[in-house]
Order: sequence, then C-alpha cells, then structure tokens
Amino acid sequence: MKIAILSRSSYIYSTSRLIEEAKNRGHKVVVVDPLKCNLVMEKNEPNIHVVKHKLERVDAIIPRIGSSITHYGSAVIRQFEMMNVFTALNSNALLRSRDKLRSMQLLSRESIDFPKTFYTNMNSSLEAEEILEFVGGAPIVVKVLEGTQGVGVMLLETKMAAISVIQAMHSLHAKIMVQEYIKEAGGKDLRVLIVNNKVVGAMVREGKDGDFRSNLHRGGTATQAKLSKEERFVALQACKAMGLQVAGVDLIRSDRGPLVLEVNSSPGLEGIEAATGVNIAESIIKFVEHGAKNQSKTKINR
Ligand code: ADP
Ligand code: GLU
Repeated sequence: MKIAILSRSSYIYSTSRLIEEAKNRGHKVVVVDPLKCNLVMEKNEPNIHVVKHKLERVDAIIPRIGSSITHYGSAVIRQFEMMNVFTALNSNALLRSRDKLRSMQLLSRESIDFPKTFYTNMNSSLEAEEILEFVGGAPIVVKVLEGTQGVGVMLLETKMAAISVIQAMHSLHAKIMVQEYIKEAGGKDLRVLIVNNKVVGAMVREGKDGDFRSNLHRGGTATQAKLSKEERFVALQACKAMGLQVAGVDLIRSDRGPLVLEVNSSPGLEGIEAATGVNIAESIIKFVEHGAKNQSKTKINR
C-alpha cells in the first residue's frame, strides 16, 4: 500500500514512528507537508499538487495536523476525500475536535458527563457574577477557546479573581468558557488512546508541583493507567460522538464519575508509547490497512 502522512516534518516523533511502523509492515510511505499542498479543482478531477508536481495516487492518508493549521489542513484532507482516498481522520471530525465549544455541544447531547460549562460572549446580558453562580461559584476554571496544551486555562480560586478575569476577558473580546473546577481530580488527568473503536493505551498525567494542569507540555509526568469499565466506556462514547477513529480522549476522575475534558484528533504518540510500552503507531497502521481495503471495496460496488 502507499500511505501519505500529512505532517509538517518527518522528524516529529509521532510522524517518524508512523513511518517506521508502516515500513515494517511493507508499505510505501511519503510525508506530505499540508502547507505545501496546492488544491486543484476541475470538472471530475480533484487533484493535489505538492509545490508544482501532481501527487501520485496514494491508498490512504494519515493526517497529523497541528492546531495552527487546522483550517487549511482540513481543506487538504477534504480534497483527498473528494479523490476517494481513505483517511484516518475525517475533515469534519478534525474541525469539530478543534473547536472546544462545538465539541462540548456535541458531547452534551450524549450521556457523557463533563464539568459543568458556561459559554458566553461579552454582549450577553449576564453579569460576571451571575455567570459565576451558574457554575457553582469560585473556584472556577476559565478557558480561552482557542487555547491548546494548557495555555489559556486558568484556575481562579476566589470570587474576586473569577469576576475580574471574566470581565477582563470580555473587555479583550476573548471567547471563553467558564467551567466548574473539579478539585478532586488533584491535578491529574487520564489520556485514553483509541484506535478503531478500541482502547489501545491509557496513561495518568500529573501536573508539575502545584499546577492543576496535567499537560505534558507544561512539565507534567505520565504513567500507565488502569481504566475502570466506566472510564473505558465514556472514552469510547466521546470518540464516537466526535466521529473520530483515532483519538486521544482526556478524562478527569471526579466524585460523580469520569468527566470528559477534551477529545484530541491528532494525539501525540511519544508520551503514551513511553508510559505504556504499547506500539500505538502499529495499531494505527493496521487500522489504516483495514480502512483502505474497505474503501476500495465500496468504490467497486458503487
Ligand atoms: P488544553 O486543551 O489546553 O489541554 P484542557 O481543557 O485539557 O486544556 O485543560 C488542561 C488541564 O487542566 C487538564 O488536562 C486538566 O488537568 C486541567 N483541567 C482542565 N479543566 C479542569 C477542570 N474543570 N477541573 C479541574 N482540572 C481541570
Ligand atoms: N452533523 C454532525 C452532527 O450533528 C456534525 C455536527 C458538527 O460537526 O458539529 O453530529
């Protein structure tokens, strides 16, 4: 099979692992920088040119799209979809996973629990104090909507701090979510890696001393996790609700059960492979083999 990995560089850990495992399983691999893709549209013939050259047909793509290029990246994926190439990440699923608000909206109609969340804009008639009351009062967590890797996530412990930050965010026209703070999570979260409807690995991440954010990018540490049945179920449900086949679901443990924080569509492999010893890159390649095979079948049947 010929597989294209959409990634800015083959030196990124996750990309290099996917290349390695694809080669181990006898596939040809090309790494295509999505930003170097030009999309050519003409009647009956959607095409992709990488810089000036038409990209040769591939059987499948594995998109690894960073958050700063979400929009263009999704257009490139959509072009492959138009060409009937199997993709490990659907273009719409990518877009919805990158939008924290849209994700919450989708999850909230399923039986998936997450921290009580309030989204508001500065023109809302609600005062900061009323917003605060809605999520149960301080302490609260405020998240800037476009934030990632824990940047733009703030814990506000007192009523005064909470109110002044909500007001400041509104005056800066920042889009924010105001969220109930789950104290008992204790600065830890769970990252659950799902491939093709199966949990393939899970780790507990713990924030650096005193940080309530457990992101590895913020200096957190990770160890293998043993999931309860309920945690497994909730993670799989969340992945499905987002329309993802490969995902990293973030959960926190609360007194009322597992709560979903976020569903990542290009989950990093380094932390989880190191913490669990599981070959996750290989399970992604196996999933892609399976998907590409069925894709060509549907084409013939049509
Ligand atoms: P990002 O997308 O930037 O990683 P998250 O929403 O995942 O932002 O938050 C980063 C980290 O902060 C989480 O992994 C978790 O450890 C902690 N956290 C986030 N929201 C809450 C909350 N409501 N209560 C307790 N801890 C939280
Ligand atoms: N139509 C899909 C749904 O309702 C997509 C919605 C979305 O991507 O936000 O689940």
